[in-house]
Amino acid sequence: MQILFNFPLKSLNSFGFDVKAKEFVSVTNTQDLLEAVQYAIDHDMPIHVLGGGSNILIHEDLLGLTIHLQLLGKSMVSQSATHTLIDVCAGENWHDFVAWTLDNDLPGLENLALIPGTCGAAPIQNIGAYGLEVGNWIDSVEVLDLEQLDQEQAWHTLSRQDCDFTYRNSIFKKYPNRYIVTQVRFAIPRQWRANLSYAELANYFLHRPQPSAHDVFAAVCEIRSRKLPDPLVLGNAGSFFHNPQVSEATYLQLLEQFPQLVAYPQGIVDGQKLFKLAAGWLIDQCGFKGFRLGNVGVYEKQALVLVNHGGGSGKDILRLANLIKEKIHAVYGVDLTQEPIMLPP
Ligand SMILES: Cc1cc2nc3c(=O)[nH]c(=O)nc-3n(C[C@H](O)[C@H](O)[C@H](O)COP(=O)(O)OP(=O)(O)OC[C@H]3O[C@@H](n4cnc5c(N)ncnc54)[C@H](O)[C@@H]3O)c2cc1C
Repeated sequence: MQILFNFPLKSLNSFGFDVKAKEFVSVTNTQDLLEAVQYAIDHDMPIHVLGGGSNILIHEDLLGLTIHLQLLGKSMVSQSATHTLIDVCAGENWHDFVAWTLDNDLPGLENLALIPGTCGAAPIQNIGAYGLEVGNWIDSVEVLDLEQLDQEQAWHTLSRQDCDFTYRNSIFKKYPNRYIVTQVRFAIPRQWRANLSYAELANYFLHRPQPSAHDVFAAVCEIRSRKLPDPLVLGNAGSFFHNPQVSEATYLQLLEQFPQLVAYPQGIVDGQKLFKLAAGWLIDQCGFKGFRLGNVGVYEKQALVLVNHGGGSGKDILRLANLIKEKIHAVYGVDLTQEPIMLPP
């Protein structure tokens, strides 16, 4: 285990902010991970866990110890009549893993192709896209529990139920800095059917019936590449805001005022009909698409994505985000929630 000092994080955060970690370590095995955690505790330092850096907003240099998880490995564990179990270590690249499952004739994750980042981070916000959330196919998650370090159960397994997956949420966001995910186990149904529940994907295949999993994978990659900026070209963290969920009464009231409102019914939760409003539409309608504030701005093709045009900082993005939040609240009475996780918290 080698600690590096004042380590540059520019290439390890997808916004491309020029920030540093006071102390930084890359870990490739669980023994090194434990040693790194122990080092931070012995020196009374906060710990920051970093995967691919594609869902974080680093707003100042990171004090304490930044642990870059690079645990690698993936394998098929077993097959029952109904499911295939697959293990993947936290440091594996998510998109490459999805491609590997298809190459090994294990379809099911193709709707989540091209999401940047690592497999270990996938359960953190229950990544989702094109009609699928990763929590649907997660069987369990191996973690190091920082609150039980002195006990035997420090390394343990959380079941899918324990993970408490909901829209862009999980136990890992509820208890930030408690668990370090080291491995994820997937249980993928053996009987495969193309998931075309997302309208854009359904339209794509309107005249191409019965697509294979590879076709869906290619379609998702094509649509995403058209709509989202490549972080290597234009710094960003994907969607900057969640789609706000509102009650039926609020939805109907807004619909009356804004007949073009884009929203999706979410079914009944706790006895209440809920609707998800398209945050991108709300922001776009307020004229923000392509808006620039100094070195940062709103992506010209998708209003939900905030970008660093070069030389911007986390504080610049926060200023822009606040401007947007205030406007959305004033016009629609709706509060937007930020998706990328603040580092430091
Ligand atoms: C262009 C673009 C498109 C995107 N599209 C989508 C999308 O369609 N759907 C979607 O859901 N997300 C999307 N995202 C967001 C992002 O890709 C995902 O949230 C991804 O899972 C983040 O992975 P990461 O390894 O980069 O995590 P990081 O950004 O490194 O970390 C994110 C958070 O997870 C924590 N963390 C990371 N690894 C671990 C671990 N092993 N154990 C414990 N905590 C950990 C970090 O401390 C941090 O709090 C997009 C991002 C970009 C840039």
